[in-house]
Amino acid sequence: MILLERGPRVSPLATWKTEVQCGEHTKGCGAKLQIQFNDVFKHGIESLFGSSTSYRTKCPCCHEDVMIPHEGVPFSPDEVMSRTTWLKFKRNALLMQLAEETPEDRYSELYESLVEDGIECPLLNQLFIKELAEK
Ligand SMILES: [Zn+2]
Repeated sequence: MILLERGPRVSPLATWKTEVQCGEHTKGCGAKLQIQFNDVFKHGIESLFGSSTSYRTKCPCCHEDVMIPHEGVPFSPDEVMSRTTWLKFKRNALLMQLAEETPEDRYSELYESLVEDGIECPLLNQLFIKELAEK
């Protein structure tokens, strides 16, 4: 889909973006990243002094978590996906991309290789079932 123009009732989350540097607060490679809301996940930390939530993203270069400063963010922890949910979401998106790039006559081959690798994806299974049902 191509977004031609944003509507007037745009959520601040849709336009929010910020720049972060990988490795500024944790180990990482030093890459500079511009991130949007759908790049953000939350990470809860429990300590003797109580619990706190940090906002993070994943560096596409070194795959380390990158901390996002809390200042000025237009969202609350309740609106942000947990690390596990976010990783599943990203994984599913990559698997769907893999399926889209695979010709339909090679779906069963792809499915078998994913099962062999122990990768299960309900979204993909639905797609395969739909494709097989249409044959
Ligand atoms: Zn990095």
